[in-house]
Amino acid sequence: MNSYDVAVIGSGPGGYVAAIRCAQLGMKTAIIEKYSTLGGTCLNVGCIPSKALLDSSHHYEEAIKHFDTHGIEISGDVKVNLEKMIARKQAVVDQTTGGIDFLMKKNKIDVYEGLGSFKDATHVNIAKNDGATEEIEAKNIIIATGSKPSNLPFINLDKERIITSTEALKLKEVPKHMLVIGGGVIGLELGQVYKRLGAEVTVIEFMDRIIAGMDAGLSKELTKVLKKQKIKFNTSHKVKSVERVGDEVIVKADNKNGEEVEFKGDYCLVSVGRRPYTDGLNAEAAGVKLDDRGRVEVNGHLQTNVSNIYAIGDVVKGAMLAHKASEEGSMVAEIIAGQKPHIDYNLIPGVVYTWPEVAAVGKTEQELKDAGIAYKSGQFPMRALGRSRASMDLDGFIKILADEKTDEILGVHMIGARAADLIAEAVVAMEYRASAEDIARMSHAHPTFAEAIKEAALAATEDRALHV
Ligand code: FAD
Repeated sequence: MNSYDVAVIGSGPGGYVAAIRCAQLGMKTAIIEKYSTLGGTCLNVGCIPSKALLDSSHHYEEAIKHFDTHGIEISGDVKVNLEKMIARKQAVVDQTTGGIDFLMKKNKIDVYEGLGSFKDATHVNIAKNDGATEEIEAKNIIIATGSKPSNLPFINLDKERIITSTEALKLKEVPKHMLVIGGGVIGLELGQVYKRLGAEVTVIEFMDRIIAGMDAGLSKELTKVLKKQKIKFNTSHKVKSVERVGDEVIVKADNKNGEEVEFKGDYCLVSVGRRPYTDGLNAEAAGVKLDDRGRVEVNGHLQTNVSNIYAIGDVVKGAMLAHKASEEGSMVAEIIAGQKPHIDYNLIPGVVYTWPEVAAVGKTEQELKDAGIAYKSGQFPMRALGRSRASMDLDGFIKILADEKTDEILGVHMIGARAADLIAEAVVAMEYRASAEDIARMSHAHPTFAEAIKEAALAATEDRALHV
């Protein structure tokens, strides 16, 4: 039987990063993955393929809507070849997952393909896909088994017409009318992909606003912009039934007045969140406790109730984000190696990759109000930037919230072109506990979208933005 210092179960951005960091720190490491490709949800059916399709569909939309204004004339039709678009997406995925194979070899990590399940607290059985089984022993075990799409109890996901994000990433045709249940990140990103490719898109959301976890100002602006792009929104709608009749999908929901509303489409994307995944793990054999929501229970050191077993990523509490999983992967490896790492969960940024992009870090206005913290707010519209006019990306704003007395930046909320990249400046500033005045006094290259961060900081400090 092979013995290891650490065995990692699951090879998503949590698991594979944990394995690399363990190997870097000199530990003999194994990783177990039930699928034949490494990389987990993020690389195979999450972050990477969705961004590949967002980019392809963005190019198409630019060509049909904006090239003319830029003085680029196309002779003949611009057409979508969905099969080719999906194949390009798959090529990006394959290249990226192949990169993880390379990293495992480079770091001398043993990769086991098969379902890992606990025999006890130091032994894992691996049920291989060819029917064989193997047992390994490890002093420490990291559970990184991730998450799967959630569903509503009354919905029968047939995976053809009533689908999750996984199927939406490989459709064979552009839907005529896609119904999207859930106005969160995944539903909006994939909804926008198919809207750009020609589908009618109707979002049905239970809460009274989309991206309900983010600052209300961002929800409002994103709704406004996506409505201009002709995506339809039905907030405060409680879905009661989803039925497939031939090639049609009928969704019935109660609106906020309790009246029944019916929606008809040819595809229905169910994007109502994700659930932690521990199926087949046999956590009970090791005595590992799950909480009431099916997540592996961990303490502040990501340690389970069994001292040599840790858990990270989507399978534990906190934001279900790839970069949060990766930070936890590094942290656990360093803890096992005897170091004292730390993650500031307040500084994990959240991003929506629609166009315009939405990104945020720190506290929302509502959170500051609820906590009774007095704050100042400075906001700057993207349309006031020369850079935005040059690229015709006029929608959105950047808002900085700073402590009323100390001026420390407490939250940054942005919607606009390249917000996903711009948010890194806010994370750095907040990590070093910068004041709004600090940012206001830093030189930002001109013309850039980042100038809006400086202007918002100027607005937050004595209302002295220069270009509004
Ligand atoms: P996962 O990536 O889910 O990996 C877990 C792995 O464990 C899987 O490969 C699974 O097969 C394996 N596994 C499970 N049980 C066992 C077992 N018993 N034995 C062996 N292997 C097992 N996040 C972002 O930050 N940015 C984005 O842009 C983004 N976009 C997304 C788009 C979509 C459509 C989706 C669905 C998700 C997106 N996410 C995004 C979320 C992101 O994918 C997850 O937060 C991230 O993958 C979590 O990483 P993880 O390592 O915890 O788990």
